[in-house]
This record gives sequence, structure tokens and C-alpha cells, in this order.
Amino acid sequence: MVKLDQHFVIDKNILERVTKLAKITKKETILEIGAGTGNLTKFLLKKAGQVYAIELDKSLLPELKKIKDSKLNIISGNALTVKFPKFDKIAANVPYSISEPLLQKLIYNNFKLGVLLLPEKFVKKITSKNTKLSFISNIFFEIQKDLEVPPECFSPKPRVLSRIILLKPKKTDEPIFADFLKQKNRKVKNALREAIIREKGTTKKETKKLLENMRTDKKVASLNLKELERIQEFVRNLNV
Ligand code: SAH
Repeated sequence: MVKLDQHFVIDKNILERVTKLAKITKKETILEIGAGTGNLTKFLLKKAGQVYAIELDKSLLPELKKIKDSKLNIISGNALTVKFPKFDKIAANVPYSISEPLLQKLIYNNFKLGVLLLPEKFVKKITSKNTKLSFISNIFFEIQKDLEVPPECFSPKPRVLSRIILLKPKKTDEPIFADFLKQKNRKVKNALREAIIREKGTTKKETKKLLENMRTDKKVASLNLKELERIQEFVRNLNV
């Protein structure tokens, strides 16, 4: 069964805070994940040029469609599987169980800023040291914590604390390693070879030679933190 994580934000201060942090201009297109009944959507529409609102639960669509605004584009579907439209910024009270795969998906998108409401526990995971998730997040994003949001700000109340974060995509200074990480379903050696060829323009033959001592059959996604750090070090020491 699909988990919907429906906890609607009822505290206007939180909706205002998210909107303010996004510093939205009329020229910008905003993507919202899990629009629900449109609590946040309405605030975003006051500032944005366009809002794309993705919502999985079809029973909420009639409520969302009551918002009569030509700037609003509703996408009925699963945020993890629909193709995102082009957007400048993303704002969302994220359905908690998709926090991690959503962050993963955002790695493949070009955007300026995200303002996300997430479970505090997940925020800790992506901002603390020594977790695989924080290691990967840190390659692609600068993460800034904002307000803690208590359960009382939602209806129905979630069981856990939440927090607003700012997510700023980074221009990476490790393009080979970043390219490698993005190929999460490929085998390590193939992903590395592709990344080096793409970023350095080396030939297939010379790239294969660089990797001849690498012995692993694992896929990129299954690497643990230590293994990732080892590969990062290997890439840093590459002589290409
Ligand atoms: N933005 C609203 C609702 C937040 S609750 C508010 O702040 O009040 C989270 C919303 O995400 C719910 O409406 C739920 O139906 C929706 N949702 C859950 N999983 C989703 C998914 N995979 N893709 C898109 N929407 C999803």
C-alpha cells in the first residue's frame, strides 16, 4: 500500500516562512511536491510566475482545482516517478516517507534553491557527519537548517518533529566523482569509466587501463560510506 503521509500545515507562519525563504520572483517557476489541499500552494502562487503542484492522492484534486489561478499547473501523479517540468525552485512540505528518494531525484535536476519541510530525524541524517546520506548530499548540495516545526503546526499531527531546510545545489569541484555517484544503478567500474571519459575526454582504452586494478562487482548504490570515500580518494589521485 502506498503511504500518503498526509499532515497538512495549518500554521500560517510556517507557510509564510517557507515562501519567504524561497525569495520567489514573478519570473520564477516553482515546483511543489505533495500539494495536498493547496495550503502552501496558495502562498506560492502569490509570488511566483508559475507553480507546478504534484499530488498523488486523486481524492484531493477537486479541492486543489478550486484554486482558480492561471499560474497553477496541477500534476496528478507520484513525485518519484513523474517527469519534473523545468523549474527554478522547489518548495514542499515533503511526504515524509519519500524524503530520501526525493533528495536522490533532485540530484538529477537543475534548479536554484529548495525550501523543504522534512522530519527532523532525516535532517539530522543529511547534516551530520559520517553518514552515507550526508556524504552524498554534501557533494551536491549546501544544506542550511532553518526553523524547527512542532507537530502542532500540522493537522493531523505527525508523531515527530519537523524542520525547514534550505537546499542549495552546489557547483561541484569534483565533477568525475559527482558524475560517478549519479550512475547509481551501474557497476562501480563501468560508472567510473564513463565518468572519467565524459569529464576528461580520455579514450576508452586509456581509461580502462587507469581502472585495471579496481576489483569490485558492486553497484554504485550499494557502496557503503567507507567504500565511497575510498573511491573519492582514488579519483582525487587520478593522473588524467
Ligand atoms: N502541502 C500540503 C500537504 C502536505 S501533506 C500542506 O502542507 O498542507 C503531504 C502531501 O503529499 C499529501 O497531500 C499526500 O497525498 C501527498 N503525497 C504523498 N506521497 C506523494 C508522492 N509520492 N507524490 C506526490 N504527492 C504525494
